[in-house]
Amino acid sequence: MNDRPALSNLATIDAAHHLHPFSDMKELNARGTRIIERAEGVYIYDSNGRKYLDAFAGLWCVNVGYGRRSIADAAYRQMQELPYYNTFFGTTTPPATLLAQKIASHGGEKLKRVFFTNSGSEATDTWFRMARVYWKVLGKPEKTEVIARKNGYHGSTVAGASLGGMKLMHEQGNLPIEGIHHIGQPYWYAEGGDLSPAEFGLKVARELEEKIDELGEDRVAAFVAEPIQGAGGVIIPPETYWPEIARICKARNVLLVVDEVICGFGRLGAWFGHQYYGVEPDLAPIAKGLSSGYLPIGGVLVSDRVADVMVNELGDFYHGFTYSGHPVAAAAALENIRIIEEEGLVERVRDDIGPYFAEAWKSLEDHDVVGQAESVGLIGGLQLAADKATRRRYAKPDDIGATVRNHCVENGLIMRATGDRMLASPALTISRLEIDEVVEKLRAALDHLRDTVRE
Ligand SMILES: *Cc1c(COP(=O)(O)O)cnc(C)c1O
Repeated sequence: MNDRPALSNLATIDAAHHLHPFSDMKELNARGTRIIERAEGVYIYDSNGRKYLDAFAGLWCVNVGYGRRSIADAAYRQMQELPYYNTFFGTTTPPATLLAQKIASHGGEKLKRVFFTNSGSEATDTWFRMARVYWKVLGKPEKTEVIARKNGYHGSTVAGASLGGMKLMHEQGNLPIEGIHHIGQPYWYAEGGDLSPAEFGLKVARELEEKIDELGEDRVAAFVAEPIQGAGGVIIPPETYWPEIARICKARNVLLVVDEVICGFGRLGAWFGHQYYGVEPDLAPIAKGLSSGYLPIGGVLVSDRVADVMVNELGDFYHGFTYSGHPVAAAAALENIRIIEEEGLVERVRDDIGPYFAEAWKSLEDHDVVGQAESVGLIGGLQLAADKATRRRYAKPDDIGATVRNHCVENGLIMRATGDRMLASPALTISRLEIDEVVEKLRAALDHLRDTVRE
């Protein structure tokens, strides 16, 4: 600590030198960055000594909670033994290989191989190329188009931002790139109109079928979706949605890519989101909870259908990252998964803390400004509404969400807002008492919204 400049100066230094992701830098520099110094369990502490309950697990990733000494030890040991070696050109390291085996052991019968990356975005770029390569090897080089969804999120690289359905991202950098198409999202509250959620789920799923038929089945390589949209606002699809999507992909011979970057590693009370929804992906990008964010690592879980072609018929796959399967990140991820197994965190989310969270979260639905409060496992989305009865939303959704979020932060609760939806995604280790604290503080922020904004 002594060799660092006084922390009071850090915000000034930060404004001078550090460009932040997804930030309005002018506004941020004027306000001053919040400096997070340390963390333990579900709590983070800033440079003013203030304590916050982090109901967002960093960025959906710190599944085992902060302060896990054994992950630090595993990384330290690995760094002393072998800090780096690559997995190109015929070599591997013990942690990389053992991690692939460990991930596969939870992937089910048909997902047995892993390609490593350093992030979810790189995982997206990886499966995007794999899907096209797969069809090319099978003699269908024209099967290249990829269908994704409006308001989906798949990362920030060129392919990631293109596949994502975020308009504001597309406007920066002339995206999407060619060959990518977007269909509607299963966001019943906002877009379902007079349909029941079940009817609406089928309707938006069938947009996939229509889009494939419009483009021609022989031109479509893959469809990608998150089990539950995260950054888009924790949009939980109606139960009819996923089975219909899986049926269509099968019937039209299109690869199904399930983006597990948030839902993987226990968040829904299953090891992977596709298991929760009972569908079988051909490709499944992973990251975030894979290492609980202790070190950057991601990958793509590859089904036998695709892997057998890659292994037996492709020859070289001209793709990879210097740090694919980085041994220190892999050692940290292995220890992270060992903790999830040993502490039974997936089962805990499914049988104990998930149901507790669901009830506490749902209790907010009685509030005047809440239209709907839904959750699965330990991910929750809360829809703000100006009028509950008619599902009428506030005129300025971004301002409304920010009002609630800021009130939470001022009261020591880290929440995120996407438009007029409040999002929660706490560590899988969160206690009942801590969930009570989340809901209590969020309720106070909802009271504040009700009492200050009238529409
Ligand atoms: C975060 C995220 C990504 C991108 O991961 P990065 O590690 O930020 O590159 C991709 N897909 C989903 C669903 C995500 O939530």
